[in-house]
Amino acid sequence: MTTNTKYIFVTGGVSSSLGKGIIAASLAKLLQAQGYRTTIQKLDPYINVDPGTLNPYEHGECYVTDDGAETDLDLGHYERFLNVPTSQSNNVTTGRIYQSVIEKERRGEFLGKTVQVIPHITDEIKERIQILGKSGDYDIVITEIGGTVGDIESLPYIEAVRQLRWDLGQDNAIVIHLTLIPFLSAAGELKTKPTQHSVKTLMESGVQADILVCRTEHELPEDLRRKLALFCNVREEAVIQSIDASTIYDVPNLMLEQGLDKVVLKKLNLESDTPDLTQWNQFLNRHKNPKGEVTIGLIGKYVELQDSYKSILEAFIHAGAENEVKVNVESVHSEFLTPKNAAGKLQHLDGVLVAPGFGERGIEGKIEAVRYVREHNIPFLGICLGMQMAVIEYSRNVLGLKDANSTEMDEQTQYPVIDLMESQKDITDKGGTMRLGAWDCELINGSIVQQVYGSNAVKERHRHRYEFNNAFKTQIEDAGMKATGFNPETGLVEIVEIPSHSWFVGVQYHPEYKSTVANPHPLFVAFVKAALNFKKDEKSVSMTQK
Ligand code: GLN
Repeated sequence: MTTNTKYIFVTGGVSSSLGKGIIAASLAKLLQAQGYRTTIQKLDPYINVDPGTLNPYEHGECYVTDDGAETDLDLGHYERFLNVPTSQSNNVTTGRIYQSVIEKERRGEFLGKTVQVIPHITDEIKERIQILGKSGDYDIVITEIGGTVGDIESLPYIEAVRQLRWDLGQDNAIVIHLTLIPFLSAAGELKTKPTQHSVKTLMESGVQADILVCRTEHELPEDLRRKLALFCNVREEAVIQSIDASTIYDVPNLMLEQGLDKVVLKKLNLESDTPDLTQWNQFLNRHKNPKGEVTIGLIGKYVELQDSYKSILEAFIHAGAENEVKVNVESVHSEFLTPKNAAGKLQHLDGVLVAPGFGERGIEGKIEAVRYVREHNIPFLGICLGMQMAVIEYSRNVLGLKDANSTEMDEQTQYPVIDLMESQKDITDKGGTMRLGAWDCELINGSIVQQVYGSNAVKERHRHRYEFNNAFKTQIEDAGMKATGFNPETGLVEIVEIPSHSWFVGVQYHPEYKSTVANPHPLFVAFVKAALNFKKDEKSVSMTQK
């Protein structure tokens, strides 16, 4: 087999939430910053075909790519770090692997053979791992294997890694193993045993780790590194410490200090140079030295779990750095927001974002939040369901269409201002059937969004089933809320604004998916700026009142 592409596998021991995604993204950043075309792929050992049908409480946010794949949130980190779009090929689950093997079996492609985990499932995994490499677009493919080494469901993946190392040769495929070095405070000691054990578990499957990345709260002393190297059969320089960082954006520099990129490139027989992290460090500098701060309310129903709104929170970090301010995000649970307590929860905020979501729970709270910020001129950004709630609020409270609603929440509503698209009406399968991925959007001259984007045409990613109902468009526009973005083919409304308000924008798409360190999303940048202006204006108003 010939190959120009090099493969790096990232596996994890002890616990699955050690931050493999961030380590993979940081390594990719360092390799990219040395001129290597690098991409990252995530293999997830669960049986769902994709995470699209998973509740955010289960697995955090579902991240959507340009090609409409509903994927693991780690792909968001990959894009934010690398500024290179990912696709369906970058996320594969066990469900998808089995689905594809079973479809081949039904088509008779296995010519009467018994279909088995080895070789058929493992062959399918190997093929999926190499799709990105074979595209010719990348010098290096990093494959992150989800879950924990030793789990039953991870076994076929580890076996595929073992075979690929054999097929491709040791110089072309290496294994990084991420483990935890716990600190026992009673004994005042760092413990290496769990690492030794997970390396051993990996070896039982025939895979020797080349590099250890050790997650730790304290510096690893020299003798401990030596011990790990000796017991785990790796070189001392290949024992890399991953110490807890105050921000994930520090991790590339921490890995650089540890020489992770150098060891990796040496093992792969590739030249190594000093990575150019100028732009990255400029961002970090701005992020860490803010000149002011704003407080934005995030109104959602999954706020207990930070990962549910991962891309939104990261987009605020990018936009904050761009504005040189710290963005404090204050979560407000929409389920417990009522007309009685809205002022108490919202009046001190400099901006409010109403989050995406599905289903009825918490929507009245979201509508109440929109009412409050609209009436008090507080900058507002509504995303997907948040935009739909803005349309409903306006219809109810300004147009006087009592009980206006989305047919998602009330099928019988007299005023279905948000309704199911015609093309969605006969769809019964829930998985992968929404309006997904990048769609064109044309912007109206003179609108806020046209100014924000500095363009008349953009492409943004979608993930929803319901739409602004054009039957109500004239009525809504006459009352003062304007539709300022449209899909040119379908005429579907993508954006609404209220020109008389300080800054009020609702978007049917998800701008947060496209915000990266190198390219903070213009809508988030403008929203944070509006919040900053609002804060200044508020201050000057209260000063003149004194
Ligand atoms: N539930 C809404 C719809 O399907 C909004 C989805 C979302 O916010 N992503 O249209």
